Amino acid sequence: MNCPLCRSGSQFAFAAKGFPLHDCEVCGHRFAAIDAGAGHVSGTYDDQYFFGGGAGYSDYCSESEMLRSRGRMYAKKIAPFIASGRILDVGAAAGFVLKGFADEGWKGVGIEPNATMAAMGRDSLSLDMRVGSLESLATNDRFDLISMIQVAAHFYDPERAFAIAHDLLNEGGCLLIETWDRSSKLARIFGRNWHEYSPPSVLHWYSKGGLKNYLETVGFDQIAGGRPSKKISGGHVRSLLRYRLGDATILKLIPEKVNFPYPSEDLFWALFRKRS
Ligand SMILES: [Zn+2]
Repeated sequence: MNCPLCRSGSQFAFAAKGFPLHDCEVCGHRFAAIDAGAGHVSGTYDDQYFFGGGAGYSDYCSESEMLRSRGRMYAKKIAPFIASGRILDVGAAAGFVLKGFADEGWKGVGIEPNATMAAMGRDSLSLDMRVGSLESLATNDRFDLISMIQVAAHFYDPERAFAIAHDLLNEGGCLLIETWDRSSKLARIFGRNWHEYSPPSVLHWYSKGGLKNYLETVGFDQIAGGRPSKKISGGHVRSLLRYRLGDATILKLIPEKVNFPYPSEDLFWALFRKRS
């Protein structure tokens, strides 16, 4: 199977949860060798993903305040480079991150494949939400910022997604990405047991350098980046651990409502500007 980014040949690396993971022979990108078409999105991000636990969320909405403050945090981080305008938040879920950007003066649109989540953002947060994936988005809108917070790992066609993002950005517009770093120390220590090797919801494992190199070939320049701090709710910790450990009694000791700092050494963010 060819690399979904640069279309070069690939080699089998190892299997995770029964799915073959391949490494690109040229750009080094690691991906699940699954023929994930548009149907992948609706099949994977159903209500079960957001509310059912497993590799997804036990109750996504319980993290609303945290996600909203995450949007505000990123708006402040990128303000020295781009401070306001129109934003497209990709994989917006119920719009909490987008609402955080709105708190800081951004106006815009969220696109989300799960109709229940999109409706929630529309009804309870009064946001402009569209149902669908970036790969299938047809719009005449143009944006100053496109945000992909923990989304790029899920694209069924990342080459197309990044090309569309490039087209939708105004001159000088920026692309903000937060995703997992498979070249991080933590990922290397855990090897194939790293928690992010959870296909088929996750399909791509970028490295910080690999993503930068790729985006440079398709018309973006990196202008900022770093490692975000992150907190997740006790309920989400329980749900993720249960997925790994089964129903261990010790999980009941984790308080549901307390937010835990998450070791984010294996997570990174990067801001890219569209090259003129
Ligand atoms: Zn490649």
